[in-house]
Amino acid sequence: MKKELSYEQIRMIEKIHQPIVICRSYTQDVEILAASEGFREMFGVAGDEKVYENIYKDVHPEDTPGLKNAALRFMAEGGLIQEIYRCRKKDGSGYRVIRLYGELLDIEDGTRVALLCLTDEGDYHEGNVTELNQAFSQSIRDKQVENTVRYDFLTGLPNLSYFFELAEIERRFVLDQDGLPALLYIDLSGMKFYNHKYGFAEGDKMLRRFTMLLSRTFGPERCCHVSADRFAAVAEEKGLEERLGRLFEEWQQICEDGHLPVRVGIYLNRTEDVPVGMAYDRAKIACDTLKGLYASSFKFFSSELNEGLENKQYILETLDEALSKNWIHVYYQPIMRAVNGKVCDEEALARWIDPVKGFLSPAEFIPYLEDAGLIYKLDLYVLENVLKHIRIKEEKGCYIVPHSINLSRSDFDACDMVEEIRQRVDAAGVPRDRISIEITESIIGSDFEFIKTQIERFQALGFPVWMDDFGSGYSSLDVLQSIRFDLLKFDMSFMRRLDENEDGRIILTELVKMALALGIDTICEGVETEDQARFLQEIGCSKLQGFYFSRPRSFEETMRYHMEQKFVGYENPEESAYYKLVCGVNLYDVDVIARDEQASIKNAYSTLPMCIIEVQGRKTRFVRSNQSYRDFFLRFFGLDLSRLGPEFVDTDAAFMNNVIKTCCDQGVRTFYDEKMPDGSIVHSFACRVGINSVTGTIAVAVAVLSIREPNEKLMIEQIMSVIETFGESMPGGLFIY
Ligand code: C2E
Ligand code: MG
Ligand code: MG
Repeated sequence: MKKELSYEQIRMIEKIHQPIVICRSYTQDVEILAASEGFREMFGVAGDEKVYENIYKDVHPEDTPGLKNAALRFMAEGGLIQEIYRCRKKDGSGYRVIRLYGELLDIEDGTRVALLCLTDEGDYHEGNVTELNQAFSQSIRDKQVENTVRYDFLTGLPNLSYFFELAEIERRFVLDQDGLPALLYIDLSGMKFYNHKYGFAEGDKMLRRFTMLLSRTFGPERCCHVSADRFAAVAEEKGLEERLGRLFEEWQQICEDGHLPVRVGIYLNRTEDVPVGMAYDRAKIACDTLKGLYASSFKFFSSELNEGLENKQYILETLDEALSKNWIHVYYQPIMRAVNGKVCDEEALARWIDPVKGFLSPAEFIPYLEDAGLIYKLDLYVLENVLKHIRIKEEKGCYIVPHSINLSRSDFDACDMVEEIRQRVDAAGVPRDRISIEITESIIGSDFEFIKTQIERFQALGFPVWMDDFGSGYSSLDVLQSIRFDLLKFDMSFMRRLDENEDGRIILTELVKMALALGIDTICEGVETEDQARFLQEIGCSKLQGFYFSRPRSFEETMRYHMEQKFVGYENPEESAYYKLVCGVNLYDVDVIARDEQASIKNAYSTLPMCIIEVQGRKTRFVRSNQSYRDFFLRFFGLDLSRLGPEFVDTDAAFMNNVIKTCCDQGVRTFYDEKMPDGSIVHSFACRVGINSVTGTIAVAVAVLSIREPNEKLMIEQIMSVIETFGESMPGGLFIY
């Protein structure tokens, strides 16, 4: 039996007729060491061992958290315990009121145990039965009210205000022991999306599981459920990092498929001895810096972060002045069409040029404005400026490519953002399709149905909606099933991973392919090298954005560029539909153009050689080609296509054959054979992709399906001559030499 009491002591206690128990505190739980006969009778426990199982088993669920906390605090801090709670009756017909009284005893081996005496005060009644019973029932109800005020219903943990009281006691206790108290702010990010995916009941279950883990790690009376997916805890610094490491590991195992990273901000009393409330605020600041990380992690508060707090204060206090005095500038970053290298969109990005603090990038003010729910002021201001700038460009006779603006989650809480934007755009007389709305993936994770409705409202009004930073979170693919975006903007982390290994290329290729199959346009942001741009063009990513092309520019700089490059650097909006088609062919996927042809050539080339050519009369130019096609061209024609300029050139008569001509004129899908200079016969496929209504240029996609070596030529030529006899009447296309 338990080592704190001898066998004789236990036997002695077991003979007592009054209901009493001897307990000890054991790893955040209370363990019964010995129970009297009166106790067993009172709770209908026949055998010995059952008593030692779950002491709280029959306690009313509403009274359990309070009783547990009272017991643990009593065991830790001493003094007396006096509690009243409800306990299920033996026959299950209701509850009776139990009064518990206890004090701590020091036993011979130096350990402390609790002696608890219990009395049965009769049945619990909502109504009035006897005066005494009524008094106890009232007392239970008072306690219930106290519990509701002090404890969180969902998790049973203390709520924030009660936690502050408990944390203050704990802080003083740790300091008395020469320890270093730490206050933790804990963000279980991703719960909103989890709720959306699995339902609220499952979400609540997850929260309770997390609560149990947290209670096991720090003790239930040292934790608190702040709200939704936020928790707090107080602990001693010693061993804290190890404890957090274990917590992260165990949580990862519990989560299995649903990834719910835990972010922890920690305020250590070492920095400054501050009251619990302030320590909590500082822990939260440290935690907020972990936003956007998708792995469980922790961060200690530092005085540099405090500077951030001062900056926050400055930003919030100065926003109105900054807006009215035009300290906030709208910069534009051009977005390039992959196939023609022209600017096809411009993204509006805010810059705060402050008379005191100088140049501030969005990262230095947007998170504060978002948190404070003030970002709508900035976003509507940016829109108004964009509309003003569009009108200036119009007056100067520039092409007006679509301009995209960024929205944040709290925009939608502050006002009816869809309506606010519509009114301003219509009043400015700017066509709605000239303003695209960028919404980040992280916005969608919260309040899924609400955001979906807002997106659909924008689209119904004619505003294209783009998903910004696609792939930066973990919700992307799920979201795509429910929300039809007009465009996916791949997060710049894809570009960073592109050069790491082949996997990065495969993943991006497949994602672009998926977007193409869904009929969704694509942009990759963060393009910084020529290699990246070429690869993206090859896989059919239709638009590119990044420092390789241009950094965000002020409006003045943008205008200078517009005036210099007016009709050269910018895409004529009337040609946009055509270019969208040309970009939309994935050169890694022959299915897109030749659905029924077997791709045996894949043995010789890792991908089917494919290209897109543009035809203008007898002139052609290669607009897009994959590496296999470039290898093929180099082998047979000795020409490196990657070195060719963008100009149209007179085409070799053999290449500009009847097939291509027919394909251009009639738009038929055509299979044909071609004899190479070395005598090989190349079997290809061509189809018209689109016609540029402004220039009359026609885009044709060509795929090489098979190549027969010269030693096979005799037989092939024989077959060809037979087929030629039947000429153009043969189904499947024409044959030329
Ligand atoms: P975003 O919308 O994803 O914008 C792209 C960010 O990447 C911009 O940073 C841009 O300058 C930067 N960038 C572009 N090309 C490259 C590149 O090749 N390499 C690297 N390393 N970075 C590149 P910026 O302007 O600092 O904006 C940061 C974020 O702030 C934006 O991300 C957007 O989420 C937010 N933001 C900016 N302006 C506004 C605004 O007016 N309203 C709202 N709500 N958010 C805004
Ligand atoms: Mg953006
Ligand atoms: Mg982005």
